Amino acid sequence: MQSRTEKFSFHVKVFGCQMNQADSERFSAFLVALGGKPDSEENSKIIIFVSCGVRQTAEQKIVSSIKKSRNGRPGSILILTGCLAHRPDVQKSLREIVDIFIPAGQLSDFVNEIKNLTGLEKDFKVDDFYTLKPLREETFRVFIPIMTGCNNFCSYCVVPYARGREVSRSPEEILEEVKLAIKNDAKEIFLLGQNVNSYKGEDGKGTSWDFPDLLKKVNSLRGDFWIKFLSSHPKDTDAKLLKTMSDCKKVSPNLHLPIQSGSNKILKLMNRKYTAEKYLNLLKKAKEIYPEIVISSDIIVGFPGESEKDFEKSIAVVKKARFEMLYSLKYSKRPQTAASKMKETVDSLEKKRRQQELDRTWKAISVKNNQKFIGKQIKFIINSTKETASGLLTLGKSFEEKTVCVTQKKSDNIKVRGDWAWAQIESVSPLGLKGKIVKK
Ligand code: SAH
Ligand code: SF4
Repeated sequence: MQSRTEKFSFHVKVFGCQMNQADSERFSAFLVALGGKPDSEENSKIIIFVSCGVRQTAEQKIVSSIKKSRNGRPGSILILTGCLAHRPDVQKSLREIVDIFIPAGQLSDFVNEIKNLTGLEKDFKVDDFYTLKPLREETFRVFIPIMTGCNNFCSYCVVPYARGREVSRSPEEILEEVKLAIKNDAKEIFLLGQNVNSYKGEDGKGTSWDFPDLLKKVNSLRGDFWIKFLSSHPKDTDAKLLKTMSDCKKVSPNLHLPIQSGSNKILKLMNRKYTAEKYLNLLKKAKEIYPEIVISSDIIVGFPGESEKDFEKSIAVVKKARFEMLYSLKYSKRPQTAASKMKETVDSLEKKRRQQELDRTWKAISVKNNQKFIGKQIKFIINSTKETASGLLTLGKSFEEKTVCVTQKKSDNIKVRGDWAWAQIESVSPLGLKGKIVKK
């Protein structure tokens, strides 16, 4: 493709979850190590799409972005990786447009393909993709994968097919990455896995570590930072995790615990391995062990066979669980999954109606939950600022993972993305807390 000394430009486009973000930072690191130079999409020779296949809408967005890129720059090399790249139908329909497909679980292929492409024979051994030190655009918030893959095979979900079976990184490797992030002033450290509480690491001495062991260790490191983590499966969430969360002062009280449905019939069809009653008991236990815990969840509407009665059970479970945040998702049929063989029974209009009703329900509860913050001062990390007529509109996230919104005035000592700040909360909405910035 080019001489061995010439630098090649590349651009990484990320779609979907934080795990994809974390992968993309390692792709970038690897390309830089090979002599690549990160650049805009327009100026790049190699463009890498880190794709998401969780829902059809995400898939459509990526496909149109790839087509646009190919039309705009016929001479570039397009690489598709992430959760769509393994799919035979995707490979077939995009084979004229995409140059290389690298499935998410086969990252050593990525290394070899890039070496071939660039003609560079740099001695760069990558036994394990995750040993690569990520190249991060920002350091105040970091996403650190602790495990990848999933063994659960929920019937609607593409992840086990896209990312393979569960593999945990060693605790030493994770801790080294965490320490480096802290040294670079990380304020918010996200530990990531498809199912973090099935983490099983083994250290050099042969001792095995579970997720709470890892949380305790990260919590014991010196520095001013918060630890957050995603996602937890209800079937593996136990007293040890809840007790550890309550004991570890740097660990956010937010537990994202997707329930997916309130109907036991649907949960069974989804292969979720718990009932709604079991889930609610778990929440009761969680609140006993850790009264300040903040539970958020995901619910899918319109799964094949979901009757109005089943849907009402999802509404009922939201009212009982009193979630602080809920992501409602319309069921999307995914190739290869067990549910893709089930007959769809809920049309898209009805899915939309159910989604809206679910949203109204959790939002009414969430407003009430948020009212306890009125009059309180809370610490947050600034994510974004935007000039408006009344000042600098500033958004951020709190320890509890609440969105905080303040307007900074010129007279304030202006704070920017990545800064710590304090807000005095004056009003609330279902999605977050509003107030004014205060000096601390
Ligand atoms: N491992 C995580 C979820 C990863 S996928 C867990 O078990 O919680 C993130 C969310 O996407 C899921 O919680 C689910 O609600 C949603 N999702 C996954 N597949 C979907 C599909 N086919 N249709 C609609 N939503 C889906
Ligand atoms: Fe998908 Fe279920 Fe695994 Fe989550 S636990 S990634 S929903 S298969």
